[in-house]
Amino acid sequence: MNRREFMQAALAASLVSGKFAYGENAYENSENGKVKVVLNPYEKVDWTAAKQHKAALHIHSLQSDGRHPVDDVVNAYRRAGYDIMAITDHDTHTPNMHVSPRGRADVPEEMASPYPKEPKPENYPANTTWPWTDYGCSSPQNLGMIGIEGNELTNRHHINSYYNNAGWYGDMFDRDRENWEDYELETIRDKGGLAILCHPGWARESHRTPLDWYVEIFEKHSSDYLLGIETTNNNPDRNEPYDIGLWDQLLARFMPQRPVWGFGNDDMHRLKVKQTFNAFLLESLNDTNVRQAMESGQFFFTRSSRDIDYNPQVFDGFDVFPHIERIEVNNDQGTIAISARDCDEIKWISAPESLDTVGDYKTSNSPWPLGPVVHTGRTLHYRKTPGIKNYVRAELHRKDGEHVQRTFTNPFGIAT
Ligand SMILES: [Zn+2]
Ligand SMILES: [Zn+2]
Repeated sequence: MNRREFMQAALAASLVSGKFAYGENAYENSENGKVKVVLNPYEKVDWTAAKQHKAALHIHSLQSDGRHPVDDVVNAYRRAGYDIMAITDHDTHTPNMHVSPRGRADVPEEMASPYPKEPKPENYPANTTWPWTDYGCSSPQNLGMIGIEGNELTNRHHINSYYNNAGWYGDMFDRDRENWEDYELETIRDKGGLAILCHPGWARESHRTPLDWYVEIFEKHSSDYLLGIETTNNNPDRNEPYDIGLWDQLLARFMPQRPVWGFGNDDMHRLKVKQTFNAFLLESLNDTNVRQAMESGQFFFTRSSRDIDYNPQVFDGFDVFPHIERIEVNNDQGTIAISARDCDEIKWISAPESLDTVGDYKTSNSPWPLGPVVHTGRTLHYRKTPGIKNYVRAELHRKDGEHVQRTFTNPFGIAT
């Protein structure tokens, strides 16, 4: 049984019994000695051979409400050291959203994108910005990088769609349909694509959704195509404690049977952003390996609290983040150890003490108890550390003046 089959069987069993692993406190469990890491997203990584490849998976251009042409965006990220990129223009916006005199009109008319050229794509203007060569940009192959077809589905909860052309606009969809997100996710699945839920805490009341809704979505849609949520997003009005708190609440309910991977995305509209990217761990950079790493959580993600400017003449974002060099899981000794450089502190976080809502999800930025820090330091003894439940994840911190640069691991699943 491979890992995916194992996870599916385990999830099916847990759904039948109606119980997830939450509440089985690893430390207090009388079968303490049997507790082990049963899901390690980095299990297949050869740390001497693998390289980290920066991935930007949520990027806008002039083809929707971004402020830069596709080739400027791609070239800026390429020069900033990115190897993997998905342009995810909105499916509900038309090109040149902010070219004067439309929208906020902060892009001069002479900058307007002439794309897409005639004949327009079949589902214009809900089409993907793909292939890049149709939008005045070199191909990913010519640039020596991996490009992923993408779209940000924007009708209700924003959903990033990858590896397919799903998109809806105007009279192409019924905005009031009750199960709209289910329909979108099923379409992505049927087209062979992958999906993540974007910026859950987006501070507009109409866009926040109750926790139960997320639980239901992750129960209904398999980890084969619904991979996880954005836990960090550049936009300052998308609140971080909300998104990370939601992540911990979902992990508490679903790990280790059904992983919910965390993604760090710029959501780039302008080239000056609070940088957050994914670092894929790959022995060789190719389409198959990138997709597999995305599906199995084989990446870290980062978050900067200061603005970083991708404009090539000023870009200074290299190597500001804690760099993980190796992660060793030892189920005999009961340890997870992280080797890292450029790192001041490693925090280990497990499931929240309570699954009860403590605030109004529409107005509070911390409506749920956060996952507590159960240990600080490079080695976690998961059988000897109080507070460890059904998963643990690590956050690496590096001080940067008054700012902090963080690198996050994906969760390790723990069970008897
Ligand atoms: Zn969005
Ligand atoms: Zn976006």
